[in-house]
Amino acid sequence: MAAKIFDAVIYLPIIVITMIIAQIYFEDYRKTVRSHRQIILTLIVAVSYFVQEYCLLQISLININEVAFMMVVPFTMLFRNNHDKIWWGLLILTPLFANTVEVLIGIEPLHNWWVWLPESAIFLIICAALTTWQYWSLRVRYIMAISSLGLVELVSLAINNRFTIANIAAATFGLLLILIFEGQRYKNEIKNQQRINLLRRESERDDLTGLLNYRALSQEIKVLTQNRSIHNIVIGGLDIDHFKKINDTYGHFVGNEVLNHFSTVLRNRIHTAFPNHGYVYRFGGEEFSIVVSNHSIKEVYSVLQLIEEEMAGQPITTKEDITVSISFSASLTNHLNGEQLDDTLKRADKMLYSVKNSGRGWIVTDHHISAKKVHRIDR
Ligand code: GH3
Ligand code: MG
Ligand code: MG
Repeated sequence: MAAKIFDAVIYLPIIVITMIIAQIYFEDYRKTVRSHRQIILTLIVAVSYFVQEYCLLQISLININEVAFMMVVPFTMLFRNNHDKIWWGLLILTPLFANTVEVLIGIEPLHNWWVWLPESAIFLIICAALTTWQYWSLRVRYIMAISSLGLVELVSLAINNRFTIANIAAATFGLLLILIFEGQRYKNEIKNQQRINLLRRESERDDLTGLLNYRALSQEIKVLTQNRSIHNIVIGGLDIDHFKKINDTYGHFVGNEVLNHFSTVLRNRIHTAFPNHGYVYRFGGEEFSIVVSNHSIKEVYSVLQLIEEEMAGQPITTKEDITVSISFSASLTNHLNGEQLDDTLKRADKMLYSVKNSGRGWIVTDHHISAKKVHRIDR
């Protein structure tokens, strides 16, 4: 008995460790481009699979409500990890594997197949249904999975004439404990994910204006270029004219207020004109970028023109009652298929530079299909 408990003490941690190793290397495997490294990763995953199967088999030989606990590992991982379903699905075959080996080595009579085969089949069907059926939340489905494992195990104990208080208690309490701990782990994971999302959002925002920053811009371009429903991306560069003068004349704080005011107007106008398709970024200093998808340069140009008119017609009044009027220079260009974001931004920047050199307060657009030359539109 002592040796059996000792065995279980050894096997269970090995199962958990191989599970973790498999998960880590599987994630690595997905990220690795075809190379000899993939062969090594495949070997590691295969070895950990067989070690896991061996330990599960040994546990099944100790005979402690084996099928229920054999199923908990793949079940739990199927609910935890959405990517490696094939791997965890394979582990669901463990009871079949264990029973076949037990029959082969003569400790399980062959004629008992009608008990363990349907038992395994029922588990498989439940697993398949619960992991694919998205109607209920993940948490509810996991509770249902563990409960059904317990029920099927109880029926199996009854059929096998092993329906003792100790067996029922072991199966019920064991599964209940797993449910509680996994529930707690899930809660923590959700909390951590929320924290990570918040940090990510914060890292993509500019503190002063609350606009998205350059990091968010490159992220958005990546997402847009991979989205098949996006057929056109317009990128714009905007720069407030003679902003240094505002700082020099009224001080940095007034400068900040002006930046904030301009950001709010720009964001509201773009978001209203292009809902779900228009984004505004603070590129740095008094420079901004806009990204508008599935709309033409002409449409974006018209909106920038309205902003120019608003800026010219409604001077900004600061907290200290200082009135400041601003104008901006802008360039609009199309993001070309397969083009690096930096190249598009460089082109927009170059165009913006040309506006700065020819009097400021202009909006230039570039129709790169026809010619490289900058096309100036009258205001
Ligand atoms: P131009 O018309 O050629 O664009 O001239 P400009 O004065 O607008 O541009 P320049 O690049 O010469 O100066 C930009 C200034 O913006 C310099 C910098 O001190 C100021 N600046 C950058 N970031 C901030 C900020 O967060 N707050 C304030 N108040 N000023 C900033
Ligand atoms: Mg400027
Ligand atoms: Mg500038």
